Amino acid sequence: MIATLLTEPEERLNGSGGLIGDIGRTISGGPTGKVHLSPSRVSRYLLCPEQYRLYYVEKLRPKVPSGSLVFGQVIHLSLAGFFKEKTDPLKTFQEYWTTLKGIPLDYSKQETWEKLNDAGRGLLEKFMTEEAPKLGTISAVEEPFTLSVTGIDLPFIGVIDLVASVATTVTVVDFKTSGSRYGVHEADMSDQLTAYRLAKPQVERLALCVLVKTKEPQIAWQFTRRTGEQLSDYLAKAGYVGREIASARFYKRPGVWCAWCDYLPVCLGDKRKAEQSLAQIG
Ligand code: SF4
Repeated sequence: MIATLLTEPEERLNGSGGLIGDIGRTISGGPTGKVHLSPSRVSRYLLCPEQYRLYYVEKLRPKVPSGSLVFGQVIHLSLAGFFKEKTDPLKTFQEYWTTLKGIPLDYSKQETWEKLNDAGRGLLEKFMTEEAPKLGTISAVEEPFTLSVTGIDLPFIGVIDLVASVATTVTVVDFKTSGSRYGVHEADMSDQLTAYRLAKPQVERLALCVLVKTKEPQIAWQFTRRTGEQLSDYLAKAGYVGREIASARFYKRPGVWCAWCDYLPVCLGDKRKAEQSLAQIG
């Protein structure tokens, strides 16, 4: 069960089952059980095709999930509950995070369950006091989308965190949690936001809302828009990735990112360490 905690947004479209099940709602192939494309899949393939294969084809996951990724999921769930049903996000966070206290999670050197507990409370308090009042009409929360893209045989699916009026302008919002502030270019360069613009062509403004887990909690907004050319470029890229995946063209793309890749033992041929740290799901 614990290996299914780390899910990407579009993998959370169905399934349930208690607190942990809610966090780890996982589908193996997609909402229809068939292979699909998604913003996360495209990004992972472009980072490293072998990492894509090990994650989506072999379905290997760390036996002990990353504390910060699970923390991000809990923050997402807490905010989604608030936007959908007006539940108290602090209460939701505390319930989920307390449930996870006895479960082994892989915390970074700077992080512990207690520190993330304080960070989650601080961030959500700040969000409710300073950011929530800026939000007007909410038109979608955790809304799934499916796009049929010309030239791509696979369905392209995703989940949009929030569509809401932010300081009076209707905006597609993607929430992120991070250990440090995002670079100023992040929203302008985000493929994920480009995909959301394709899914919501009527909404011109896009935003990242980054909840930064610094000692003093920070919440930073980055707003952006997309041109027709940027949308075409992304479609061409997604089409390329879709064709490569359909042809099972997977190869290692080594780089600095290998240092924090869960699959490094596999690529190094360290079978014992790979068996110790990874498990197959589904
Ligand atoms: S260790 Fe590097 S090459 Fe191997 S899967 Fe991970 S990112 Fe790719």
